Amino acid sequence: MFENLSDRLDRSFKLLKGEGKITEINVAETLKDVRRALLDADVNFKTAKQFTETVKEKALGQNVLTAVKPGQLMVKIVHDELAELMGGTAVDISLDGNPAIILMAGLQGSGKTTFSGKLANLLKTKKGKKPLLVADDIYRPAAIEQLRILGTQIDVPVYSEDGNKNPVEIALNAIKQAKANGNDVVIIDTAGRLAIDEAMMNEIAAIKTAVKPSEILFVVDSMTGQDAVNTAKEFNDRLNFDGVILTKLDGDTRGGAALSIRSIVNKPIKFVGMGEKMDALDIFHPERMADRILGMGDIVSLVERAQEQYDEEEARRLQKKIAKNQFDFNDFLSQIHQIKKMGNLKDLAAMIPGVGKAMKDIDIDDNAFKSIEAIIYSMSPKERVSPEILNGSRRQRIAKGSGTSIQEVNKLIKQFDETRKMMKMMTQMKGAGKLMSKMP
Ligand code: GDP
Repeated sequence: MFENLSDRLDRSFKLLKGEGKITEINVAETLKDVRRALLDADVNFKTAKQFTETVKEKALGQNVLTAVKPGQLMVKIVHDELAELMGGTAVDISLDGNPAIILMAGLQGSGKTTFSGKLANLLKTKKGKKPLLVADDIYRPAAIEQLRILGTQIDVPVYSEDGNKNPVEIALNAIKQAKANGNDVVIIDTAGRLAIDEAMMNEIAAIKTAVKPSEILFVVDSMTGQDAVNTAKEFNDRLNFDGVILTKLDGDTRGGAALSIRSIVNKPIKFVGMGEKMDALDIFHPERMADRILGMGDIVSLVERAQEQYDEEEARRLQKKIAKNQFDFNDFLSQIHQIKKMGNLKDLAAMIPGVGKAMKDIDIDDNAFKSIEAIIYSMSPKERVSPEILNGSRRQRIAKGSGTSIQEVNKLIKQFDETRKMMKMMTQMKGAGKLMSKMP
């Protein structure tokens, strides 16, 4: 995501970061580069122009020319302006009403149905809500089926009516059922077309009038760049929606849509889709996105994800084992599983400041742990808890069983031994610290 833009911006700041004297010409050159980088990332022309003008004003206002570190100051100004461009602060969705009614709009293939599922899943698991999904696409039976499948996967009921050709009626019936069954949020997935047409707009406008949604969310594929912005504008003129969902940001998107939409339609981006799985949904934080674009990582999101997956009981159990120097290969394996639960490794790496950029050409995928897991799975239960019995012939057998080489097995065991040693040292240090603190 945004790799090209990050690179280009980084290069344009180099001009100012160097040893050379900073002049007004340098600043102008840098800003020209920034503007070109934005245009190449498919940012709207007017937005890019306005952006660099604002940055220039701020830079001159803060006296970049005489600053001690002009390069850093420029990066900071561009960073803050990028965040501002994307909306400043994160905006939540409204869940007013009982049930709260959320209406989805967008073109076919934008990711509406997938997002409906993700949102239902999020509201259910994180907010304790009881959502009802409504398949209100009367043209494509496959779309109804797709939503049913997602519903089963996340264990959320799906309302649909075979044969009813009136989407307004279906939506109203669904709300009736939600009230009867105690569902407190109704998410209506509407029909999309390949391109905007009058019939689709009329239909969704009619649903809006009938159900009076607390929130209308417009879903758009970030890969479509400028088109995404144009579509957003047309939908907004007609529906006056409340927020934008940008999907497929995990892909190779140039980022233009994320940067332009807010300034063109003046509506906040509320969520971003980061994959096809039901948990690949992130709340959109403009500040953090600006961090990522400038290669500053996103440590806050990383910690949040870690906290979400953090299993306190497991951590306590592990702590006890470490204290007794009983950390074994089963624990090693369970730690790997915890990391894997946090998501795609390359995405995680990109959140660590400085690391994303350094690793951009390195291919790390979810299979990175595969051979380590295979090796541990090929150990007998006894070997896993007492690694000291792993002699040459055992190692030979494990390499064969796991389809790896003896070198790989040796390497893992060595790493494991080192980890254990370090853990032992740390526990001892902690003990010593306690002892010291007791001294007068
Ligand atoms: P709809 O026609 O608007 O309902 O779109 P769908 O929900 O059917 O999505 C179209 C395709 O995009 C499907 O293959 C989805 O799996 C995929 N998709 C949706 N959201 C994302 C996302 O955030 N990332 C990726 N990589 N794929 C997505």
